[in-house]
Amino acid sequence: MNWMKYLADVVTLQFHKEKCVGCLTCMEVCPQGVFMRDNGRVAVKNRDDCMECGACARNCPAGAITVKAGVGCAAGIINAALGRKGDCCCVVEDGKGASGICC
Ligand code: SF4
Ligand code: SF4
Repeated sequence: MNWMKYLADVVTLQFHKEKCVGCLTCMEVCPQGVFMRDNGRVAVKNRDDCMECGACARNCPAGAITVKAGVGCAAGIINAALGRKGDCCCVVEDGKGASGICC
């Protein structure tokens, strides 16, 4: 069985907690569950799970999130589906120790 694992520490997601007003919109729109509640605001639970889709930054009313959308796994998967070569930030593992770039 193969599964994807994102490369560590390459994501462009930046969270500026001092700007956060605690609306929780980022938690609602994030498909990866990157954010969690934290004392009336949010915190980043697992930054490396971010696929750089940009939904959180586009919907944050306080400008508390920045991310370079369209350069990471979302773009890589779309490019691969369209037969294009593009940047990729995930690795496919076969569960037996073998791995390779997924797109
Ligand atoms: S969408 Fe922005 S303001 Fe709202 S909880 Fe998330 S980071 Fe904070
Ligand atoms: S860019 Fe997309 S995947 Fe990454 S934290 Fe924001 S909503 Fe989640």
